[in-house]
Amino acid sequence: MAQPPIKGRGTTLRMPGRFESRDTARVDDGWGTVEEELPPLETIVTAEPARSIISHNQSPDIGFGSSINPYKGCEHGCIYCYARPSHAYLNLSPGLDFETRIFYKPNAAELLERAAEIETSLRRHGALGGTPVRLAASLTVGSYLLPPLIGAYLGRMPQARVELQVENTEAVIAAVAAFQADAGFIEGPGEHPDLLVLPWCQDELAVIAPPGHALARKRRLTADDLAQADWVLRERGSGTREVFDRAAEGRGIAIRARLELGHTEAVLRAVSAGAGLGCLSRAVVTEAVKRGELALLRTPFLDLHRPLHAVLHRARFVGSSLRGVLAACGLELP
Ligand code: SF4
Repeated sequence: MAQPPIKGRGTTLRMPGRFESRDTARVDDGWGTVEEELPPLETIVTAEPARSIISHNQSPDIGFGSSINPYKGCEHGCIYCYARPSHAYLNLSPGLDFETRIFYKPNAAELLERAAEIETSLRRHGALGGTPVRLAASLTVGSYLLPPLIGAYLGRMPQARVELQVENTEAVIAAVAAFQADAGFIEGPGEHPDLLVLPWCQDELAVIAPPGHALARKRRLTADDLAQADWVLRERGSGTREVFDRAAEGRGIAIRARLELGHTEAVLRAVSAGAGLGCLSRAVVTEAVKRGELALLRTPFLDLHRPLHAVLHRARFVGSSLRGVLAACGLELP
């Protein structure tokens, strides 16, 4: 006999499961008991210690490989729920019992801790090759600022692996937003609704000249000196160019770009060969200045500082490997 709907429950069905050895059915015995209102149906929550806590799957339809479910049964009672048949293994119905007889795993947290400990121990003994941390960084950051930091980290952590892709700022943001990179480092300001943009560090640009250039010998430069010179600059739209243009415009200097190049190294070589003055990150030019291939010009009247940023997906779990690499790069997360 069909049971009327129960408020707050998804189903009234108590169909016997596949493994049940007994079945019961409501029968009208003539005393009117079938019509009697039943007491509210309570949810019964029972502890059931589990032997394992992490389930793995290899389904191409499911976007994750491991999952944790600390319960059996669910009060939400969605009619289509694929977890319902599992209640039949407990000699309970996949219908109403699934929604009202909940089993929880009191040792879930402890099992997770144990799994983490085993993984850490295997890693420490080299039994697991760590999953590489995938970083993406814009040109200057990826070519000059990050490699020494990552190199020092790998020296301290022989089991760690890091992949670094070097792109322009826009491509770095796209890679992090699409989960193709675990974290990104950018020169431009950068915005994306799915990403957290975090202040990382300050960078400073420097004006450079070939060693024999007339301005390299002049003690006190003026804004007019810079306006009269030929320039070799990064292409418009690059983070470096944006900062330089803003600084020059701020001082009313009209810059004459004789050559625009899409790569930092190309600018270095063209300036060093005598094509004009250039402006690049101080970290990029330091070595060439030390070798005497370039001269640094003092331009205190230009504000060439810029903040660099890190980007992370809001939905990305930051595990210990990623956290360790980011800390080595000078980014401490809360
Ligand atoms: S476990 Fe099943 S019943 Fe619970 S919310 Fe998910 S689909 Fe719905």
